[in-house]
Amino acid sequence: MIINMGKVLCLLYHRVIPYDEDVFGMKVRPEHFEEQMEYIVNNYEIIPFNSDWNKVDDNAIVITFDDGYMDNYINAYPILKKNKIPVTFFISTGNIGTSQEYWWDELQRLCFEREVENEYFNLNTEWLEYKFPSNDCEQLKDMMLSVRHILRREDDIVVWDKVYDDLYKWSGKNHIGRPCNFAMTEEQIYELSQDELVTIGGHTVSHRSLGPLRGKELYSECSNSINTLAQITKREISVFSYPFGGRGDYNDEVFDVLKACGIQKAATTVSHVYMGENSEYEIPRVTIKDNIQNWKEFIFKKINE
Ligand SMILES: [Zn+2]
Repeated sequence: MIINMGKVLCLLYHRVIPYDEDVFGMKVRPEHFEEQMEYIVNNYEIIPFNSDWNKVDDNAIVITFDDGYMDNYINAYPILKKNKIPVTFFISTGNIGTSQEYWWDELQRLCFEREVENEYFNLNTEWLEYKFPSNDCEQLKDMMLSVRHILRREDDIVVWDKVYDDLYKWSGKNHIGRPCNFAMTEEQIYELSQDELVTIGGHTVSHRSLGPLRGKELYSECSNSINTLAQITKREISVFSYPFGGRGDYNDEVFDVLKACGIQKAATTVSHVYMGENSEYEIPRVTIKDNIQNWKEFIFKKINE
């Protein structure tokens, strides 16, 4: 550890959007986001994710976004731009410009907007067999969170496809997602990337955990997302964040693949302040949800814990 350097608190946002429900705890209301940005811009140094954090003398803050939701462009970016705040958007490329929702939102849509009311959802694969009751909201929520948990640990794409095929049949829904959950378009990502305060980073293609993936599949999840973003932005992509970002979601093989793809720094969701002790491939971040009562105190505590 380097003595006398400042600490760096890297914040992780997912969505900035007005909402009625927030079942995954990913949304922050635009008015809250604006208050949060105005407070930190007036009270802390805000530095880019891809700068040298070991050179800060005083405590500093970094702003990052994961996934690539269109609300980042519509609601968050104008506030960041107005306050001249450097920001990094880590983007999963599989949904760019499509009418497909991210897989967890799709799961939520199929569970809660179903056309057909079945009493059970049977999840059967070669290895797994579950029977989820699906009669009321509580049961549907349990089912949704359980399926999400199972998929998060699943490396076999065949299992993923089977589960979603069965969910579509079970729910009677079509494949067209809800526009409020869409990902950014290529044009929007390009526009962001031309702002010198914005950095674009990789976040895989399909947003599966990299922890269980090996070999070719691991390589293509990393390199295809990085190459797609490089093509869209016409810039080199040198930063990355791990989907889910917990300790089981990355490993030494993942680090090697990212290094081979030109990535110099990568972010986790391991929640603490940076004090110079982390590898460049295990940058800790604190996830922001919309339940923070006292922002000033929250930031102070996180930096000083
Ligand atoms: Zn993510």
